[in-house]
Parts: sequence; C-alpha cells; structure tokens
Amino acid sequence: MYNTHIRSIIAVSLFIWKCMQRSVYQGLFWAILVLISPLILRSEPKPRIKKAPKRIIFLIGDGMGLAQISGVMVNYGGQNAFERFPVIGLSKTASADNYVTDSGAGATVFAIGKKAKNGAIGVDSAEQAHPSLFEWAKKNAWGTGVVVSSSITHATPASFYAHVPSRKMEEEIANYLLQKNCDIAIGGGQKFFTERKDQRNLFAELTQLGYVCKQDTVLVQTDAPKFIHTLAANGLKTRQAGRGDVLLKGTQLAQTNLNKYYKKSFLMVEGSQIDWGGHDNDYAYMRAELLDFNEVVNAVLDWAMADKNTLVVVTADHETGGLTLLENKQDLGSFTPHFSTKGHTGIMVPVFAFGPGAEQFAGIYENTELFEKFAHLINRHGINKRIK
Ligand code: MG
Ligand code: ZN
Repeated sequence: MYNTHIRSIIAVSLFIWKCMQRSVYQGLFWAILVLISPLILRSEPKPRIKKAPKRIIFLIGDGMGLAQISGVMVNYGGQNAFERFPVIGLSKTASADNYVTDSGAGATVFAIGKKAKNGAIGVDSAEQAHPSLFEWAKKNAWGTGVVVSSSITHATPASFYAHVPSRKMEEEIANYLLQKNCDIAIGGGQKFFTERKDQRNLFAELTQLGYVCKQDTVLVQTDAPKFIHTLAANGLKTRQAGRGDVLLKGTQLAQTNLNKYYKKSFLMVEGSQIDWGGHDNDYAYMRAELLDFNEVVNAVLDWAMADKNTLVVVTADHETGGLTLLENKQDLGSFTPHFSTKGHTGIMVPVFAFGPGAEQFAGIYENTELFEKFAHLINRHGINKRIK
C-alpha cells in the first residue's frame, strides 16, 4: 500500500514535469498513464505457493450454501469446523447451459475444469471427455479416493473418475472404475456392480484387477491399497435413520490407507445428503447431514493440522432449497428456516481452505478455478507433466 502511494506520487510529479517541458500530446500521454496507473498498481500477481501439499482432501457439501452453514451453527454446542479455516473464497456455480447448476455439471467442473451441461459427468459442453484430477493424480503416482453418503456412482463422485453424457448412466459409470483411476471408493451403490442389466459382476472383475471388494452394510476395516466398499444397494441411510458416523469412519479408513500406500494422495469426501434434505425442504434432515459433515471436516482438520503437509479444501457444488433464515418472532435469538424452492439455486458458495497451498483459494472466482488450483498443485509436486 505504502509502495503504491509512493509510485503514484512519482507518476504525478513526472506528469507535471513533462507537461511543463513538452508538447500537449506528451502531456496527454502522461495524463492517460497517470489515470490508468492505479489499475496497474492494484493488479497484483496471483499469490505464489509457499509450499506444495503432499495430500489434498477435498470435501464437498452437496447443496451447502451459506444459509445452510450459518443456520446449522446457531445454538450448536459442538465445534464449528468452518470457523477454523484461515482462508475463505467464493465460487460462482453456473453450468454451461444453466445459471443454476446440477450436481453433475457442478462436480464435473471441479474434476475436469470445464463447464458442462447440467446432468453431464466428466465431459465438457460438447460432450468431450477431458482428463480428471484423479487421472492427473494417477499419472503423477498419487493415490486417489472417494468417500460419500450417496452411491459411489452418483453424480458428484462419478465426475472424478468417469466420462458419460448423463448422470443417470450409473452402471456405465461403475465400469469406469475398471480403469483404475480411483484407488479407494466407499459409499453406496452395490446394485450398479452386481445387479446389472448386462449381468456382469463388476466386483469379480475389479477383484481380478487387484481391488479388494466389500459389500457389507457395516464398514469393514480393510488394509488394502485398492478397495471398493459398498455399504448399501444405492444411497446410504440418512443420519436421522441411524447411518451413524460411517462418513467419518470411511474417511479415516481411506485416509489411513492412502497414507500407508501412496506418497501423495487426493481424497474427495462428499456430504451427499445435505442436498437431499434441501430438495425435501426438510430442515431437520438437512441439519443432521450438515452436522455429520461438520464432524468429518473437524476430524480432517485435526489430522491436517498435525500432519502439516495436507491441504484441506471445503466447498459446495451449489446451494439447494433457496434457504433463508427468517425472523422468529417467538425466539428472537433464533430464526425460522424458509425454503424457496425444491431445486437448486445459483448463489455463490463459500470455499474454505487450510494447509499448504491454501492461499490459492482466497477471492471470488468461477468454479473452474478450483480445478486449476488443484491441477497446479498436483502437477507441481509430481513428475512435472504439463497440464493443458
Ligand atoms: Mg452429490
Ligand atoms: Zn440436488
């Protein structure tokens, strides 16, 4: 700031001096320079990465807008994970064909860095596939994983390892796991592997490829570098219906094994059902899912703070339900939750970052930037392949 001020004074002085000595045109030139100098002086270069992370944990709260976060933390007795982050940004969420994105386009943009049409998975607006962060990570010998409370073939996790024009193609999405770009997957969706139209048993095929496959309804501790663990036929139970802390335990299991077997890793964890509570306009459902997610974020942060080499980034693909917090006349210290839609909305969503590389995530930017930042960090620490 002080520097900028000095430079402005020098520019103005030079201007006056030149006007006195030279022609009117020279004076005009300097006048323009002085006028645009604040713009030049204000445009600062992007912050440089001080240290690159060895591990990245990317947590997506599907449908988690600022109203969801603000509301849930009112009168909450526990630790608010979101308040622990030193770096905050805002992400603009529009998709290629709709200001209001769906979760397919919303996660695709994180995974491949291209705006997609709503419903697409891992392909751009022309339905062209582009390498995902997981594919880049694997090329650089990183471990990769997803832990979700939906099926592991649902739109958000699918975008990180599959490339299909429609999120509804969950059996085709499951096929992409055979390409071995996702080392660990924990969530629901067993039926897309073993009860398929084509009669294939994908678990048998994945086992052939070296994966350990589990389909128990309770989490099995598995000491394997590559495993797929489905806990339900489709999505997991709601937290209210007794899912327990399986998202937390699954995250810890994935993280333990990624640490054990890979020098570097990228793990995506999704609080999938925050969105589903929003679609149902069921505040209690949404709240329970967000508190579940908060628990996971707290645990991941504790781990990252001790580890010092882990970047933690938390954001949402979009907001769901158009939630607002209205005045509660009976209890002025609280609020009345009000949903304005059964669908998604186009409001910006917050981004929270902690750890090496976190400084990259400050500011207001398009959701494509999240891919760019991650890709840069993966590439920088890898074998230096160019990322296009
Ligand atoms: Mg989702
Ligand atoms: Zn949704």
